[in-house]
Amino acid sequence: MGDKNFNAYQMAQSQFDKVADILSLDEPTRQLLREPLREYHFSIPVKMDDGTTKIFKGFRVQHNDAFGPSKGGIRFHPMETIDTVRALAMWMTWKCAVVGIPLGGGKGGVICDPHNLSMREQENICRGWVRQLAKNVGPINDVPAPDVMTNAQHMLWMLDEFEVIHGGKQPGFITGKPVGMGGSLGRTEATGFGVIYTLREACIKNKIKIEETTAAFQGFGNVAQHALQLYTKLGGKAICVSSWDQKDQTSYTFKRDSGINYDELKKITDKFGGIDKTEAKKLGYEILDGDIWIEQKVDILIPAALENQVRGDNAVKIADTVKIIAEGANGPTTPDADKIFQEKGIFVIPDFLANAGGVTCSYFEQVQSNMNYFWTKEEVLTKLDNIMSDAFEAVYNTAVKNKLYMRDAAYVISISKVAHACKDRGWL
Ligand code: NAD
Repeated sequence: MGDKNFNAYQMAQSQFDKVADILSLDEPTRQLLREPLREYHFSIPVKMDDGTTKIFKGFRVQHNDAFGPSKGGIRFHPMETIDTVRALAMWMTWKCAVVGIPLGGGKGGVICDPHNLSMREQENICRGWVRQLAKNVGPINDVPAPDVMTNAQHMLWMLDEFEVIHGGKQPGFITGKPVGMGGSLGRTEATGFGVIYTLREACIKNKIKIEETTAAFQGFGNVAQHALQLYTKLGGKAICVSSWDQKDQTSYTFKRDSGINYDELKKITDKFGGIDKTEAKKLGYEILDGDIWIEQKVDILIPAALENQVRGDNAVKIADTVKIIAEGANGPTTPDADKIFQEKGIFVIPDFLANAGGVTCSYFEQVQSNMNYFWTKEEVLTKLDNIMSDAFEAVYNTAVKNKLYMRDAAYVISISKVAHACKDRGWL
């Protein structure tokens, strides 16, 4: 999304090819895993509030389901493309495999901008998306979830439409539902907290005291907010966040050297993660160019907005003080930026490991929905911490043992697991 010249799918495939070489995968395995198993493209007719009918383009991609039903979010974005959805579906396969949950990789999207749609129009898009796909998704096939610009309300409309079509109550169809309506406590925090659980482990391995660190964030939506919340709770000092300004159609960095208070900043942030500039100024924030977050003299960078944000051109501007990059977003870093990180000796927690907390908690939500028995928030977060910490440890050990870059080590684990699952099923 965003940059027309950037192709997330090509990037995901080039990351895959590099590790397929390391693993000496045979040709059929490469062919099977470097492309999705299935994809659906469809049109969603929607009655708009002004009486007109508008056609929205929708997608669902199921990259691999050798381990279980496909799992992945649905994005609403005006610049959504099928190649972005393909890349994200592929990353979901690796994400589920790296944390060892019995699910495959999927992703969906609709080309639309919720900023310009009423709630009723958004509901119609959600119901239309499900009507187009009702036979191809479901608790035992493919389980959607929220993602960029979709939320619990969207998921509930989708569940309701699915149940209208199929009959009965099927809460396992979708995750990210509201708490009290089949949702799991802790799901809202899960991705951001998961990023920080892995960051905490990375600090320990690198002999860094998290309470003595400073960090810069890109994004202040679901992932960044909760990452910042837990990071500051552990004693870290967040000095800036960059976020998108819908009115000005550009991003700004909100910087305060004395540190960011999560509750205070959250109060002046809209539901899309956009920050009120006037209120931020009153709270003592400097409002700078949106790209400046990456140049800060901090110990930690947390890109948690969109893909293709850390590239060769701006990675060279990363300060020498930066020791760790924890990727909250999916695909924030391009392969040429990876080379720069390696030259600078920056420790990277790759996206599909760092942000796997969301899908792990979605899996917990399915388990709880199926049992119709729900855990406390503490239980959910403790289980999540254990899974994230164990996955980090496995990737770290693989990286050290085989002298691999952390991203490659994570890929080695995931691709080997999925390739074996396909072979064990007799697909290869
Ligand atoms: P969100 O829509 O809640 O927030 C996105 C944030 O990024 C907003 O604050 C927005 O202002 C900001 N932003 C957008 N474009 C920007 C730009 N050009 N410069 C600076 N800021 C910009 O989305 P989210 O759910 O927080 O997801 C963020 C990333 O994390 C995405 O890559 C998503 O795929 C990934 N992710 C999300 C989850 C989840 O559970 N929400 C799970 C795994 C991965």
